[in-house]
Amino acid sequence: MSSTTDAIGTSAAQTRSAELEQLIRKDPGRFRILTGDRPTGRLHLGHYFGTLHNRVRLQDLGVETFVLIADYQVLTDRDVAENLTEHVEELVLDHLAIGIDPERSTIFTHSALPALNQLLLPFLSLVSVAELQRNPTVKDEIAHSRQNAVSGLMFTYPVHQAADILFCKANLVPVGQDQLPHLEVTRTVARRFNDRYGHGTPVFPQPDALLSTAPLLLGTDGTKMSKSRGNAIALSATPDETARLIRGARTDAERHITYDPEARPEVSSLVLLAALCEGVEPGVVAEEIGAGGAAALKRRVTESVNAYLAPIRARRDAYAQDRALVRDVLRAGNARAGAIADATLEEVRAAMNAAY
Ligand code: ATP
Ligand code: MG
Repeated sequence: MSSTTDAIGTSAAQTRSAELEQLIRKDPGRFRILTGDRPTGRLHLGHYFGTLHNRVRLQDLGVETFVLIADYQVLTDRDVAENLTEHVEELVLDHLAIGIDPERSTIFTHSALPALNQLLLPFLSLVSVAELQRNPTVKDEIAHSRQNAVSGLMFTYPVHQAADILFCKANLVPVGQDQLPHLEVTRTVARRFNDRYGHGTPVFPQPDALLSTAPLLLGTDGTKMSKSRGNAIALSATPDETARLIRGARTDAERHITYDPEARPEVSSLVLLAALCEGVEPGVVAEEIGAGGAAALKRRVTESVNAYLAPIRARRDAYAQDRALVRDVLRAGNARAGAIADATLEEVRAAMNAAY
């Protein structure tokens, strides 16, 4: 996909997201959310402003919310899932800290749901190898992969993701921009399954992506902030760590600070970060810093981020004292999600004439 068609895809998704916001406000009970992350490290500000903030907001508006911990998908770009248990628990803690309520929302690991994984087989039959090869996010991830060879899991994980979303018939997926091509795969799988096996009654919804106002936050090196790229500011970082990371962030040679994401991505990303934490427009932050240059900008970002994250970090520290709670949240979430996956698989097998 060229960057122009990419931008068109993103702006269409942004328009659709604005429409969806209206519909959600009118009738939150019409929607079910599935969204999630790979347990490859602690969640960061890119996640927070890209999707986590939306997850909590929508949960609080009354939308039923499922949070997936995509543990099998860790293996898309590495041979071994290192410190997997620790990373899974970190993700649960991050979600509890930001306000996901395990009584209302379901947090689960997809490896614990055999029926969900079984959906992958019929779903794989609905997409072509050429379609999988064209996926721009998969191409980008292959470019950043730690492996020399590309595994079958890497090519097929967007289909696995379709199973993650469709097992619970979610119709709304709050995600960052990189996930848009995957959402297209999910919509394609749902449509083709319904066409082939629905007999006039659709089995699956075609879910919509819900983009936030920061669908692609950049990291300290000026590329997509990412757990695996060493450029992220974790929600759980200490204030000092945060200050150090922001001090080391890339800027550019021009002293005067402006907000111009196209021409000055690194500087603009820092401006945006301060603006998101302060709840103001980025242009305002840029104007206030102006001639103060990169050093003043970085001081401002550090203060805003640390102030914004202070209550989240305090809650996280409190939950981290109670590992039994973390495990209970997962056990209950896996049981709840597992029952839904079993029911959907049964429906799928019946539709495919495979209920013996
Ligand atoms: P990894 O490097 O291990 O792939 P990641 O940081 O890319 O980790 P994921 O678990 O792949 O995180 O992504 C989880 C969710 O967070 C997705 O919806 C993704 O779109 C969103 N997200 C991740 N990074 C960003 C970012 N920098 N800006 C906005 N959204 C993001
Ligand atoms: Mg990723």
